[in-house]
Amino acid sequence: MTLTPLLTDDAPAPFILHPATCDAPFIFVCDHAGKRIPERLGDLGLSAADRTRHIAWDIGIAGVARRLHAALGAPLIEQVYSRLVIDCNRAPGHDSSIPSHSDQTIISGNQNLSDDERRQREREIFRPYHNCIAQQLATIDPQKCAMISLHSFTPFWQGQERAWDAGVLFHKDAVSAEIMHQVLVESGRWVVGKNEPYRMTATSDYTIPYHAETRGMPYLEIEIRQDLIADEAGQENWAAILTQLLPIYWRRWTACAPMHRAYA
Ligand SMILES: [Zn+2]
Repeated sequence: MTLTPLLTDDAPAPFILHPATCDAPFIFVCDHAGKRIPERLGDLGLSAADRTRHIAWDIGIAGVARRLHAALGAPLIEQVYSRLVIDCNRAPGHDSSIPSHSDQTIISGNQNLSDDERRQREREIFRPYHNCIAQQLATIDPQKCAMISLHSFTPFWQGQERAWDAGVLFHKDAVSAEIMHQVLVESGRWVVGKNEPYRMTATSDYTIPYHAETRGMPYLEIEIRQDLIADEAGQENWAAILTQLLPIYWRRWTACAPMHRAYA
């Protein structure tokens, strides 16, 4: 059976590429920037409130990412559709790739999908986004550029308030994470987690392991608590912080001896 395309001709493309405006040593990626749902999927069975809360997207992060792109001139690729349609930071087939529930909310539009329906979301939304990232990476030297993956996290999870203002996540590139953690802590104002509030593994995430780690490329995965960037003032503030601190991270990383910064 051939499925009707998910994205109609007038639907927004699944990603937005903000091209580089100068030769900055970064590439920004934002897997959970958007909260759109393709018209053909209706509301996925969710209330308007659920479609705008943290389960649908990373609140505030697009506003930070766009300002970083404007300030530093590095390319930015953002996903436009909600992670409830398909999570672009999970390998296709992963349990939470097309989640059946999230933070105790049942996603009724994701129940009992056929393999064809799953593959369609992958083909129309997941792949074009990752192909765009791969095309950008094809034009750079992976040792002269760091991938900066930007996310935000909910302050409350399973009834507990989270202690961190921000977190730096890593799997193989412990050196970059260590440097950026130090840079953030030295700035003196925040509680910063290292592999908190999430631990990155080869399978918990997709974008960094798939694009950066396979290339031996330095990277940072930065998480910011959502209440700090929920409004424009907060987004402005965190964009200014990272505009100042990312070049410091990069200078320290490039100053490390190659044998110390390489990872397997
Ligand atoms: Zn995220």
